[in-house]
Amino acid sequence: MTKAEINKFRSILEAKQAELAQVVRNRDGIAIEKSPDALDEVQHAAERELAIRNLDRESNLLRNVRAALRRIEEGTFGVCLHCEEDISPKRLAAVPWTAFCIQCQEIADRSQGGDNSENFDELLVSAA
Ligand SMILES: [Zn+2]
Repeated sequence: MTKAEINKFRSILEAKQAELAQVVRNRDGIAIEKSPDALDEVQHAAERELAIRNLDRESNLLRNVRAALRRIEEGTFGVCLHCEEDISPKRLAAVPWTAFCIQCQEIADRSQGGDNSENFDELLVSAA
């Protein structure tokens, strides 16, 4: 990867990091609203749960973005953490914070039933 490409990814990741940090910082904004109306109460509980779930996803993403920025500093950006092959430029363009090549990601997704992979997350954290 050229220096210009790395710089491009760095600015994308930094912008994403700022955006996510903003969202995660606002987590205290999820107020626990009490309502005398039972239906309202159910509605609020559902909204709260959705907000918390979104927050979980954003925090995860933020962690991945930060790890990717660290890999840029370390000069390992764009290399799969699992098999150490280069991640395809197309995949990096679509998901700049990805730590895995498409093959490894597919294996991870399959073994985890399609959702976020705990094992790979751990791998990511320990490698970061
Ligand atoms: Zn791989």
